[in-house]
Amino acid sequence: MKSANHKILIGTLFFGGAIACIGGASVLSEKIASYSVPTSIISEQKLPVIILDAGHGGFDGGCVSTEGVPEKGINLNILLKLRDLLLISGYEVEVTRDTDTSIHDSGIEGIANQKSSDMDNRLELFNKYDNAVCISIHQNQFTDPFYNGAQMFYSATDSRSEKLAKSLQKSFQNLQPENKREIKLCGKELFLCYYSENPTVMVECGFLSNPDEASLLNTDEYQEKVALTIFSGLNSFISEK
Ligand SMILES: [Zn+2]
Repeated sequence: MKSANHKILIGTLFFGGAIACIGGASVLSEKIASYSVPTSIISEQKLPVIILDAGHGGFDGGCVSTEGVPEKGINLNILLKLRDLLLISGYEVEVTRDTDTSIHDSGIEGIANQKSSDMDNRLELFNKYDNAVCISIHQNQFTDPFYNGAQMFYSATDSRSEKLAKSLQKSFQNLQPENKREIKLCGKELFLCYYSENPTVMVECGFLSNPDEASLLNTDEYQEKVALTIFSGLNSFISEK
């Protein structure tokens, strides 16, 4: 598990118009001007640690788009963009993975056991802090290619999860004005979301079974928009707290 945790805390902040660029994140700094964390939040309360999870990875590709693209890479690309935005804004961020890998313990044999270990390790990170907010990034799939649009699933263990889901769903309405989806309470089948003890939402960014949405989700530009959308919804939630 230790090798799978990538604790990154960068002391460069983006508050009150002071822009500091870090590595590749500089290209995004102009775009986040309207999304930056209000100074009042910083001074009045301690920011939560943000835990980001890119669903699947390694042998587990997750669902696959109509063009044959597995969700694991799309999830990761969105996570990395979102992480940059959060770091620029002064958040402490940890991620379950930042490469295309399963994060099971070494020495575990067999895909089922590796998957189980991988999920346990993700959950361990989600429950590592008392003051954390957790986001798990996935793509959806359905038998009917008609369906599209993002949908949030929230955890029942912390009542703030529902508020977080509402804030994120609302943010997605700016990106997808036609989206009328409602937030949903997650069931046990969404293991990580269900057993997380912190405010947690699983973000299903869109449907890879819908050809148009799948094409969009596979572009760098749209992935950046999705990352900004999650970032904006997360900031609104934290501002309300
Ligand atoms: Zn998934």
